[in-house]
Amino acid sequence: MNYQGVWTVSENDQGKLKGVSYELLARGRGLADKLGNELASVVIGHNITDEAVEELIHRGADAVYLVNDPGLRHFVVENFSAVLRDLINVYKPEIVIAGATTYGRTLMPHVAVRVNAGLTADCTELDIEEGTGNLLQIRPAIGGNILAEIKTPERRPQMATVRPNLIKHAEKDERRKGEVVNVEFKAEWIDRRVEHLGFRKSEGENINIQGADVVVSGGGGLKKKENFGMIKKLAESLGGVVGASRVAVDRGWMSYPHQVGLSGKTVTPKLYIAVGISGSIQHLAGMKTAETIIAINSDSDAPIFKVADFGIVGDAFEVIPALLESLDHY
Ligand SMILES: Cc1cc2nc3c(=O)[nH]c(=O)nc-3n(C[C@H](O)[C@H](O)[C@H](O)COP(=O)(O)OP(=O)(O)OC[C@H]3O[C@@H](n4cnc5c(N)ncnc54)[C@H](O)[C@@H]3O)c2cc1C
Repeated sequence: MNYQGVWTVSENDQGKLKGVSYELLARGRGLADKLGNELASVVIGHNITDEAVEELIHRGADAVYLVNDPGLRHFVVENFSAVLRDLINVYKPEIVIAGATTYGRTLMPHVAVRVNAGLTADCTELDIEEGTGNLLQIRPAIGGNILAEIKTPERRPQMATVRPNLIKHAEKDERRKGEVVNVEFKAEWIDRRVEHLGFRKSEGENINIQGADVVVSGGGGLKKKENFGMIKKLAESLGGVVGASRVAVDRGWMSYPHQVGLSGKTVTPKLYIAVGISGSIQHLAGMKTAETIIAINSDSDAPIFKVADFGIVGDAFEVIPALLESLDHY
């Protein structure tokens, strides 16, 4: 199989690169160095500036494949996957990684089918197997109880999406040099059956839970939707945002963009306050790397206390109003 090199799929919003692109470069650089191969990044979109492309090079890309055209202004998976399919077929990278974001989770399965490759979704770690050079795709499995190590020895490229916000962005070195490959737009990439009519954000989508310094999350212990009022107040008074466990989301107390955990978002705030949350392994997967964790739970044996820096054993309906009162007087 004549495939070589590691690719990251960078993300942009109207030409502005997203942070996940630099996280992917950090991962990609490590893999490329182990293999002794080049690292390249693919950027597809419109209005992508020279500075954005340079930034990818300064942060570790040896090459950038740039597909910059008004026809690709909006993310339409049929179109973008046709672009990536063609690039893969021409340049034959050995490994292609993207963020396990809405973008990556939509694009990569589409491309994997079109290039007849496997895909491991939602990896938390990537490595290279000694001896074979195969990509080790590591991700939680069986409800987060084990870490599975997945390999794709028979197919190329090896494709994976990686959870964002788990590692630091690749460092910037302005002396780094790289090649920019301007790829000419092809009208045949556009699927005429699909038309972009507009973009509407879902309720709650505006919250930047992954970038927040303070996250106050509520869980099953809050009993009903109305009780999230005090969680919102506490989050507000600390300048933070509201998070939720899956139980709280499944019961319709909070919308999905607030969910923290394995099947929700991974957050790394300075302060995470878990209120009425048991601390299931799936919830911990999304918040255990927070700098300081405070848990409030009426059950002193709740597993959340094992990861908490400070624990308050008590009834949330007494503790939170007391906290709010003391913050008011602060
Ligand atoms: C594949 C898979 C993916 C999953 N993904 C996620 C995910 O992304 N995020 C997630 O959160 N879960 C996820 N889960 C679900 C997870 O297993 C748990 O069911 C869930 O985290 C439990 O939520 P909880 O702790 O809020 O609720 P509960 O389990 O109902 O716990 C409520 C807690 O509140 C405490 N409590 C009760 N009353 C009070 C009170 N008055 N004051 C203070 N404390 C009180 C209780 O002692 C208890 O510890 C996933 C599960 C699977 C199988």
